[in-house]
Amino acid sequence: MVCPKCNSTDVNTQIVQSGGKTKKHGNGIGGHLNNTARGLTALCTLGMSNLVWKKSKGNEKTSYNNKTVAVCQNCGHSWNV
Ligand SMILES: [Zn+2]
Repeated sequence: MVCPKCNSTDVNTQIVQSGGKTKKHGNGIGGHLNNTARGLTALCTLGMSNLVWKKSKGNEKTSYNNKTVAVCQNCGHSWNV
């Protein structure tokens, strides 16, 4: 690795976590069908499953972007690798 600014080879690379997106997965597909199924299941199990269903609805997933950043030890210049 060579610094593009001063051409020094004394360069450190490090992995940096940038940002963090929270993706939400809902019950997008077949929502109407889902409601019907929910009602039926609720009737069958006397509302017990309704509680479980609410809890499991929608998963939150956080993903981080790892990027590698090089830092020149000579001039301090940093850039994305
Ligand atoms: Zn440099």
